[in-house]
Amino acid sequence: MPKGIILKGIGGFYYVKTDNRIIECKARGIFRKDNTIPIVGDNVEVSISKHDKLKGNIEKILPRSTYMIRPAVANVQQLIIVTAISSPVPNLMLLDKLLVLAESKKLDIIICFNKIDLSDKESYYPMLNIYKNAGYKVVPMSCHTGEGIDKIILELKGKITAFAGASGVGKSSLINAINPKFKLQTGKLSKKIERGKHTTRHVELLEMEDGGYLVDTPGFTTIEITKEINADELSYMFREFRAYYNMCKFRGCTHTHEPECKIIEAVKENTISDLRYRNYLQIYEQLKEVKEWEK
Ligand code: GDP
Ligand code: ZN
Repeated sequence: MPKGIILKGIGGFYYVKTDNRIIECKARGIFRKDNTIPIVGDNVEVSISKHDKLKGNIEKILPRSTYMIRPAVANVQQLIIVTAISSPVPNLMLLDKLLVLAESKKLDIIICFNKIDLSDKESYYPMLNIYKNAGYKVVPMSCHTGEGIDKIILELKGKITAFAGASGVGKSSLINAINPKFKLQTGKLSKKIERGKHTTRHVELLEMEDGGYLVDTPGFTTIEITKEINADELSYMFREFRAYYNMCKFRGCTHTHEPECKIIEAVKENTISDLRYRNYLQIYEQLKEVKEWEK
């Protein structure tokens, strides 16, 4: 049975890319069998119609390596988090929450600082360095001048990559810059459309010429993190905290107030960024407040 990947789903039809063509599929009987609804990114087995080689039915959903919600996409391997260095003002709390989300799903992560044409290095390098020092791949870039785009393209090969970040930071512009063929509507145009009434956007995988897919979406949100992560797991999602794993005096140290906490000491010594630590504390409190029944 041919195998393929679901590129998009519209009105009960799934468009499955197999080796050599795209097959329009239904998903009859699959829910009963697998107890799962197919979503974009799923690897599936299809049966081809006897009458039309371009039509078929999804018979089996293969196991998912990851599962993202809002929008639902399976098998995302990499998250590109976009922040603008200005306009809009960087929201580093959002960035840190998205990092937590991506770490919890064990995704590859790239942080893009976009719109570097708007400022000089001296003003944005300190911010960039916080994340470099925390162990992340950081790319300063500009969709307007094209700086940094090549570097990002190199990271996309053979993976399913999704984008996240606040509105207006340049996610659609970045997808356009990667390949103008994708032609997402950016800026003013998309704002106009957003205001329209029936703007249900369909998620779609955009195929890169030399392998790999981009998830064409307005971006993932951080709503997931309170649902999926417990406060006591949070410190593992802060990459630069991991070096201190099990080194604090108290077992189960929450790194919020305890004496002889190695994380707190590292913050005092400036080995861990104070800003990252403060965001850790805030996210920790938020996760603590989420009661079990809310999960
Ligand atoms: P999205 O909401 O994250 O998809 O952001 P858009 O791609 O729609 O971009 C929002 C606005 O920022 C648009 O007016 C873009 O033209 C602008 N923009 C995007 N990238 C850059 C950049 O590198 N430099 C500057 N100066 N503006 C940019
Ligand atoms: Zn500690």
